[in-house]
Order: sequence, then C-alpha cells, then structure tokens
Amino acid sequence: MSKYDEMKKIRDELLVFKASPLFEYRVANKFFPVVGEGGHDATIMFVGEAPGLNEAKTGKPFCGAAGKFLTELVGSIGLTREQVYITNIVKDRPPENRDPTPEEIALYAPFLDRQVKIIQPKVIATLGRHSMGYVMKRYDLDLELEPISKIHGRSFETVYFDDNNQPQPLTIVTLYHPAAALYDGSMRGTLKKDFEVLKKFV
Ligand code: URA
Repeated sequence: MSKYDEMKKIRDELLVFKASPLFEYRVANKFFPVVGEGGHDATIMFVGEAPGLNEAKTGKPFCGAAGKFLTELVGSIGLTREQVYITNIVKDRPPENRDPTPEEIALYAPFLDRQVKIIQPKVIATLGRHSMGYVMKRYDLDLELEPISKIHGRSFETVYFDDNNQPQPLTIVTLYHPAAALYDGSMRGTLKKDFEVLKKFV
C-alpha cells in the first residue's frame, strides 16, 4: 500500500472511531478528526497534544493562533509546513480545550505509532509535556524523562522498529508547546532558540 493509502486508511478508521469517548462530541458538533498534514517523506515530524476548536472545525492541525506561531518557527529553520509532518497524539478535540486524559492518549496513540512507521522520520519533535511524556516513554527514553522546564530544546537518540521489525535510528527533540508563547511572551525567544536544534536535520 502507498504511504498515501496507509494514511487514508487511518483517516477512514478515525472517522468511525466509536470506541473513543470523544466520538459523540465530535459528531454532535460536526467536527472533524485531525489526522495530520504535511510531507509523507518528511524528515521531521511534529507531535502536538490534541486539536483545538479551529482544528476540529477544519480537520487541519495547528491552524489557529498557536499554529501561526508554529508555522513561523518552522520557517525560522528554513522549512515550510509542507516539508515537515504535523500531527497530534489525540486526533479528536477534548471538550472545553481540557487536557487529554491518559485513557484518551492510550486509545489514540496506536494511530501515531502507525504514522511514525509510514513517514519514517529521522526526528520526532514533541510539542508540550503530554506529547513529550508519551513519545519518550514509547521510544524507551523513560529514564531520561524530566520536567519540560529542564529538558526543553534537547535531543535524545533512540530507535523505532519499522514494518520489517528492523530498528531505525530516531532522534527525539523536546520542545515547549507553541501555545505557551501566547500566554508568556518570553517563551517566543525560548522556542525560537530551541528550534535551532532542528537545523542540523534540515
Ligand atoms: N494544539 C495542539 O496541541 N494541537 C493542535 O493541532 C492545535 C493546538
């Protein structure tokens, strides 16, 4: 199956994902699941937490205020959004923008795992502490996990296993969520500086 078809299969499964506690809320509000967007051969994959209102209304990841800043940050390392892949762990919007629950993360995470095998990125850049926590534990970096205030802007070497069960090198870069800069202006500079870690993969 082509990468496009594999990704489409994920979208089709999410459209009827009745096992999710977020499914009825999505349907009642005529929202969309947010699968992800960008190049299927991207070197860098960004993983956020869960869609907000704008994202659920359009089906596109990071298309609101935080997304505008993310687009700027991606531009600051010389790339366009089309040249990276952008997704979230949880693919449906939690009501009232609350944090995703551990159960929701566990339920949606297998879709992210499949997306990693489809895209085969060299780098997963986590956006925010939920994404960092899930991704670091998933790729055997539990022992390196610390509060995001301590390990933002760092990179960690690990592997993922491809469809042939072969280990493939993977770098995890831990970044603050771009929404943090909307509440605290000094975070803009911190995020811009932390993004420079990604330049060597461009
Ligand atoms: N915040 C996220 O974590 N993801 C989005 O897609 C939008 C805002």
